[in-house]
Amino acid sequence: MSRIVMKFGGTSVASLERIRAVAAIVRREADAGHSVAVVVSAMAGETNRLAELCSMAGEPAPALDARNVEYDAIVATGEQASAGLLALVMQNLGYRARSWQGWQIPLNTDRAHGKARITNIDDKDIGEAIDTGEIAIVAGFQGVAQDGRIATLGRGGSDTSAVALAAAVKAERCDIYTDVDGVYTTDPRLTKQARRIEKISYEEMLEMASLGAKVLQTRSVELAMAYHVPLRVLSSFDPPDAPGPGTIICDEDDIVEQNIVTTVTPDFDEAAVTILAVPDEPGRAAGIFTALAGANINIDMIVQSASREPGFANISFTTKEGEVDRAVKLLTDEQSKIGFSSLQSDRNVAKVSVIGVGMKSHAGVAATMFNALADKGINIQNISTSEIKISVLINADAAEYAVRVLHEAYGLDQQQPAQV
Ligand code: ADP
Ligand code: ASP
Ligand code: MG
Repeated sequence: MSRIVMKFGGTSVASLERIRAVAAIVRREADAGHSVAVVVSAMAGETNRLAELCSMAGEPAPALDARNVEYDAIVATGEQASAGLLALVMQNLGYRARSWQGWQIPLNTDRAHGKARITNIDDKDIGEAIDTGEIAIVAGFQGVAQDGRIATLGRGGSDTSAVALAAAVKAERCDIYTDVDGVYTTDPRLTKQARRIEKISYEEMLEMASLGAKVLQTRSVELAMAYHVPLRVLSSFDPPDAPGPGTIICDEDDIVEQNIVTTVTPDFDEAAVTILAVPDEPGRAAGIFTALAGANINIDMIVQSASREPGFANISFTTKEGEVDRAVKLLTDEQSKIGFSSLQSDRNVAKVSVIGVGMKSHAGVAATMFNALADKGINIQNISTSEIKISVLINADAAEYAVRVLHEAYGLDQQQPAQV
């Protein structure tokens, strides 16, 4: 019997009616003779509600501390409820089904409460259970840390639970069911022109996830790539007897027709900080970024430019909106040590990225992007590139428009975009 792992996100299990619809999809796979493990998220909105309650009871600090242990104990309950509910519904349909919490597998994590990483999954008990025909319904997003306490894997972490479980039980495939019928050329909520992609490489999907597309948690794609887990993104809203083809995430070599640019990905969760008139001498940038790293503040795009004052430079960087106040406070406290004249921050920025492995071998991709934006009068504040992506920082008010402009500029609006 081949083993498969299926994962259902928050919207897919948002109500009892939705959980019954999910049960119909799960039963299709069980009836086809597969050994089935199902990973579920909390019902839509539930993790936000629980996190909000934590904030009201005493804001959890972002760094590892005792309050994050309680945050994890509280937010993990959302997944426990939906796993139990799906197990009940499956039992009522006449199936042998049981819920599994992280500690019952066990799914072990490190001690970074609130954003823990999976260290190991014991596949023995759960593997044996599903091979007897029992359906294992696993609470996503949670595990047990080295300190014996419940740990959660960061927002969107049920994707990672599912892929890691699929790797551990050597599943034939991992199907991620969500509220869209696949991975699209851009967020389908932003433009009607977005098209479903048949196949996308792990590498492109990884860039997309880390550049802000919500559809899969970054860590889940890293794991799928490392362990070669065949991954599909599908809709849980399709009729159970007529599922759509979804999107297959696979090795680049398995994709015959590769587009130059595959997706346009916006990230609205960005803020920019500009430090003015830093002495232009060795060690100043090191001082700034060492201080930020020490406070666990993640930095993204960095630009250094000449200041109007000779012998001085301006340094800009971006960070997540939630981090910007801490970054500004930290740098202001260190102003005399770092030696800059003033500091500005701007939350009204967004990053828009174009991604495609075809860029590796194709010239002119950046020129197309910059020309398309210039033609529409959209000013670029900051640029960063990697082998397979170009990102620009622009005013947040122009971001949705920029997505549509770039989507068209790379031919993604059409059925047959430019190919390598
Ligand atoms: P789930 O609750 O199932 O984990 P998420 O909300 O985390 O679902 O992810 C699905 C959402 O991702 C979609 O509703 C869609 O708006 C968003 N999304 C962003 N970019 C893309 C994209 N390129 N393709 C598909 N969905 C995307
Ligand atoms: N329920 C968690 C969240 O909302 C995990 C997930 O849905 O993947 O982030
Ligand atoms: Mg998600």
